[in-house]
Amino acid sequence: MAKTLCDWSKKDLEKRADALARLVREPRWYCRKCARVANISKVLCKPRKLPGLDPALDDISD
Ligand SMILES: [Zn+2]
Repeated sequence: MAKTLCDWSKKDLEKRADALARLVREPRWYCRKCARVANISKVLCKPRKLPGLDPALDDISD
């Protein structure tokens, strides 16, 4: 299994800034342990859905 965002090292964050930018764009999930956010849950260690700011977005996912 791939590393979660929560596990990225400083080096990862530097090298993978492009991937990070894609993952955190329009976040739908947050990590309830680390407070990171992402638009897919699997990159967070303790993913939890962000409260819906725009209910319309909820219909698009999943
Ligand atoms: Zn985490």
